[in-house]
Amino acid sequence: MRTAQDGIRWAVKCRAHRRDGELCRRWAIRGGFVCSKHGGASPQARRKARERLVELAAYNLLAALQDGSYYH
Ligand SMILES: [Zn+2]
Repeated sequence: MRTAQDGIRWAVKCRAHRRDGELCRRWAIRGGFVCSKHGGASPQARRKARERLVELAAYNLLAALQDGSYYH
């Protein structure tokens, strides 16, 4: 069975900078743009991340339905 969530690949690196000015480069939380060390685990960030994933899942589902690749 294929679900909309299966289509979500969230390979985003943390966009925050470390104290020495280098990019953090850790993986961001799913649906977010920063890692858990840089605020990704805060309640607001997690809520926004979840909204983003839901939007993405809906979009993927629509796209799959349109090209006929969605099967139960
Ligand atoms: Zn980070």
